Amino acid sequence: MKNKFGYTVLCIFLATLSLSIGANGNQEAKATQDSSINGSESLSPHAITSEPLTLSIFLHYWNSRIFTNQPVFQEAAKETNIFLEGAASKVASNSNEVYNMMMASGELADIIHTGRTQLIKHAAEGAFLPLDDLIDQHAPNIKSFLAERPNIASYLKAADGNTYYIPFFPDGDPAMGWFVRQDWLDKLGLERPNNVDELYTVLKAFKEQDPNGNGKADEIPFYQRSKDNGFLFMLPLFGISIKDRAVDGQYMYGYYSPELKTAIQTLSKWYDEGLIDQEIFTRGNKARQIMFDTNNGGMTIDWFGSTSQYQATYEEKIEGLDWQPMAPPADIYGTRWIDSYRNKVNDHGWGISVKNEHPVETIKYFDFWFTEKGRRIANFGVEGETYQMVNGKPIFTDLILKDSNPTAKIMSYGCQLEFGYQQDFNYEKQVLNEVASKGIAEYQENGYPMEAFPKLSYTVEEEDWISNNKTSIETYIREKVQRWLLGGEECDDASFDEYIRTLKNMGIDKFMEIQQAAYERAING
Ligand code: CA
Repeated sequence: MKNKFGYTVLCIFLATLSLSIGANGNQEAKATQDSSINGSESLSPHAITSEPLTLSIFLHYWNSRIFTNQPVFQEAAKETNIFLEGAASKVASNSNEVYNMMMASGELADIIHTGRTQLIKHAAEGAFLPLDDLIDQHAPNIKSFLAERPNIASYLKAADGNTYYIPFFPDGDPAMGWFVRQDWLDKLGLERPNNVDELYTVLKAFKEQDPNGNGKADEIPFYQRSKDNGFLFMLPLFGISIKDRAVDGQYMYGYYSPELKTAIQTLSKWYDEGLIDQEIFTRGNKARQIMFDTNNGGMTIDWFGSTSQYQATYEEKIEGLDWQPMAPPADIYGTRWIDSYRNKVNDHGWGISVKNEHPVETIKYFDFWFTEKGRRIANFGVEGETYQMVNGKPIFTDLILKDSNPTAKIMSYGCQLEFGYQQDFNYEKQVLNEVASKGIAEYQENGYPMEAFPKLSYTVEEEDWISNNKTSIETYIREKVQRWLLGGEECDDASFDEYIRTLKNMGIDKFMEIQQAAYERAING
């Protein structure tokens, strides 16, 4: 049997020889190899081969994250004797384009890093080796990691039942939270809002009582930087979410629930009254910076780490600034929660291409990153330089902690690139400021983040239905909701009934059925 990527052994050998790698890539790998050989007489217990082995890697994603043999990979090479050299252009800026060019050329790197969707698609065309037997026989750390996480192990499998990639596994619980201008609350003599009615009172006061003191009603009480979903971060106040969710074993879809009517009616009223950013659908990613530059934003919902930094950045510029995380106001049923959690599995990962002549060594290399040492390198970088062991725990050095942007600094070492390993939340804790840590602890202790929803995998038939129908359903929903919120159409009973009818005609019940079945498969392993 031959398919698009099916080659004989000889062809594999020739193709590997002719694999085009930039001259710089070669020199780089060679230089580190030599220094490693000279520098260490005895092999590390993690050594995979006695002679150094070089594998090519394609890692180029988000148009900016690119393999450049960062220090973490050099550290791993010292341990494993496996050296990587980059097969993706370091100057190209369109990740999809570079990836597609490589796939079209057939000159595949030994290791290919990309997103789940395209990886599985190309695996179906024969570009990737199935990893299950390799893991079973040669990767004890990955094997036990997956054995402890049966849901994830089943999520990783493609529709043909094989596993083709090892993903990045994020760590840590709370991700996003509410933030408020505590100094505005104090100035107006208000308490933090405990429920939807109190939230309305606070937003109204922010709008009408000039907390920034410039004599103008220029305050924007609530803003959010996501163009598509900014508004919808408030849906949990009404007991629903646009995120996949299950309550008592039942799959829930916020856009297809009776509470949506109340939510839209309330939020469009708030929007009319100027309590929600009038540009919420267009302002976009810089919203927080803009709100602090003009000192007129009151509240938002966003990531703890990055959002808390605005306190330090603006406290000299804005007198009395007190920017604090706060508990989510309770929803209409009395529960405080937020529809944010950290996924247990990321959709970026790496696989072994069919051109790879060393699949056993490669899976052992993948396995190294699941050892204690490998995981530590991936999270903390270079011992003695970016971190030190203190009482058996890796602690960042001042090189990182005293940097003006610790996260960016540690990333320049290659840490936190999303390839196959498990993140260690302690990394993030060490670089978080006090405000963020406090917020995260409060959310964690009170259980505000909603329960993580498992990643769903679909049968071929389900996948077909989804790819043929889901986009049009989502487009319809997005346009309708936006029209309601912006006042182009009133969300009255007749309009809402018509919306539900249209969704039914578009097959929403079939969608719910597929999601329910996939959810049950995911939780039952
Ligand atoms: Ca004002």
